[in-house]
Amino acid sequence: MSNRRLHNLMVAGPVVAFVAFIVVEAAPNFVRARTDISRNPCINILRCIDGATQTWAFDNGKTTSDAPTWDDIRPYLSRDGEIPSCPQGGRYTLGRKGTAPTCSYPGHRLP
Ligand SMILES: [Zn+2]
Repeated sequence: MSNRRLHNLMVAGPVVAFVAFIVVEAAPNFVRARTDISRNPCINILRCIDGATQTWAFDNGKTTSDAPTWDDIRPYLSRDGEIPSCPQGGRYTLGRKGTAPTCSYPGHRLP
């Protein structure tokens, strides 16, 4: 191995190690950030559904074992009566007053 090749290897070695470090350290954060971005709108909708359920239960004197229907909470969700849908196509299931609503899409759930 010539001195020049050895010199190039000594210069390139730390650069390659640094790039490898960035890829290994940062890649999971990029994946997590993308997952959070796609999940957050659904989580916000689940919060709205949960809030509508709690308000419906309060207004109607319901207990923790009572479960609303979509028609029950529709007036509490939006003025136009639209039921929001999961941006990724998951299906929402209403919870009882004491349990949170759920989305069928993997990873979409209230914290
Ligand atoms: Zn969802």
